[in-house]
Amino acid sequence: MNSFIELSNVKKSYGQFNALKDVSLTLNQGSHYVIQGASGSGKSTLLYLIGGLDSPSSGQIYFNGEDLSSFGDEKLASYRNTSVGLVFQFHFLLPSMNCLDNILLPSRIGGLRVGKVKKEVLSIAENLGVTHCLKKFPYELSGGEQQRVNIIRALSLKPKLLLCDEPTGNLDSSNSNKVISLIKELAETYGSTLVVVTHDDGVAHQFPQKFFLKDGVLDD
Ligand code: ADP
Ligand code: MG
Repeated sequence: MNSFIELSNVKKSYGQFNALKDVSLTLNQGSHYVIQGASGSGKSTLLYLIGGLDSPSSGQIYFNGEDLSSFGDEKLASYRNTSVGLVFQFHFLLPSMNCLDNILLPSRIGGLRVGKVKKEVLSIAENLGVTHCLKKFPYELSGGEQQRVNIIRALSLKPKLLLCDEPTGNLDSSNSNKVISLIKELAETYGSTLVVVTHDDGVAHQFPQKFFLKDGVLDD
C-alpha cells in the first residue's frame, strides 16, 4: 500500500536529550488525526519533522512513498510551500502588512490567481468571525483573532497536508469548538490530510483517530 505520510522509526535528539524515540506512524490521504500529549512530550518537534522544517536524527519520513531526506532544496521548498499548510502556535504574521495581505502572500508567491483565492478567504473569514480584522494590522488584533487569521492563511492554498500545532491555544472553549469544526470541514472539502496536535482533551475528543505522545513515545 502506498500511504500518504509514513514515519519509520523516527528519532530526534537535541544533544543528549531524546525528544522523539522511535516513532512510527502512517497517515492516510484525506484522513483526520489528533495527537495528544502534555507540554514537552514532543508534539511540535513531530510536526516540524512531518512538515519538512527539520530533519530526524535517524529514521525516515515518506511523502507519497518518497523519502523527504532524498529531496533537494528546491523540491523540499516546494513540499513546504505547496503541499503543507502550517498553523502554528506562535504566529508568523508579518507585522508590516495588513491581515488580508498576510493571508494572500503565499498565493502571490506561488503565482496563483489571487482574485479567486480572495473570494474563498472572505467566505472563510466570515465563518470564523474575523471579517473586520482583514484590513487591520496583526498588532491591532487579539491573540485569538491572530490565530484565526493564521488558520485562514494556512487554508488558503488548499494544502494536501494540514498541520496544526495547538490551533486553539488562544481561544475560549466556544471559539475553540468553532475553529476545530471549521478546520475539519475545510480539510474535508479540500481533501486535505489533517493532523492536529494538542494537550487539550476537549479538542482531542473531536477526532475519532487519536494518537498519544508521552515523553517522545507515540501510542495509539
Ligand atoms: P511539545 O510541543 O509537546 O510541548 P516540543 O516538541 O516543543 O514539545 O519539545 C519536546 C522536548 O524537546 C522538550 O523537552 C523541549 O524542551 C525539547 N526541545 C524542543 N526543541 C528543542 C531545541 N531546539 N533544543 C533543545 N531542546 C529542545
Ligand atoms: Mg509545542
